[in-house]
Amino acid sequence: MGNIVLNKVTKSFGATTVIPGIDLEIKEGEFVVFVGPSGCGKSTLLRLIAGLEDTTTGHIVIDGRDVTDEAPAKRGLAMVFQSYALYPHMSVRNNIAFPLKMAKLDPAVIEKKVTDAARVLNLTNYLDRRPGQLSGGQRQRVAIGRAIVREPSAFLFDEPLSNLDASLRGTMRLEISELHQQLKTTMIYVTHDQVEAMTMADKIVVLNAGHIEQVGSPLELYNKPDNIFVAGFIGSPR
Ligand code: ADP
Ligand code: MG
Repeated sequence: MGNIVLNKVTKSFGATTVIPGIDLEIKEGEFVVFVGPSGCGKSTLLRLIAGLEDTTTGHIVIDGRDVTDEAPAKRGLAMVFQSYALYPHMSVRNNIAFPLKMAKLDPAVIEKKVTDAARVLNLTNYLDRRPGQLSGGQRQRVAIGRAIVREPSAFLFDEPLSNLDASLRGTMRLEISELHQQLKTTMIYVTHDQVEAMTMADKIVVLNAGHIEQVGSPLELYNKPDNIFVAGFIGSPR
């Protein structure tokens, strides 16, 4: 579960082509980082995978199933938004439970899933608080909890830490990496931050103007950048 293949995927908004054509395979359990400068198409690519944008041409295949025309909810993926997407008037418990209540799951099942997620995320003692009564890191963990309870085949993160301060970003980076080691679920993580990419990724996809410059492990990109763009971006000219 969590194998994602992009086959000649393109995306245009009106006359503007943002993604001229991407082929990519993300393997089950991988932590893949999409990195590149602002405006290069990272969010668009993630939203295409999530189904929040329609592909213009090409195909997206998840676990052998062509999902190109499937609605987001049917794809079995969970998008993790920045923590400010939480409902301020709801308790942590209800924020995490929200997608399960929408899906009309049995209340006892919901309670078990929320309790399990809270344990994984060290939120057990905070379930009755509201988001405003939590630290920034705890709020981000609630946002992740809302994704975990859906047991997705992959987690999609779009710059989840960009509104946190530098020291908290460091902590959350470690927490998300640890979560990946614990769950072993595919994660796709979008960032413009080279340090996040180099420290978190199994595989880095370097994007530039809507195309892939290079795909490789952090070590491969550091030791053997394919071109000046990758070398400059990763910070290791040779
Ligand atoms: P990134 O996440 O890497 O900063 P985006 O994927 O958000 O980049 O945007 C890539 C390009 O697509 C940008 O030039 C942006 O202006 C354009 N774009 C994104 N969404 C839309 C949209 N809904 N309509 C028109 N252009 C868009
Ligand atoms: Mg973006």
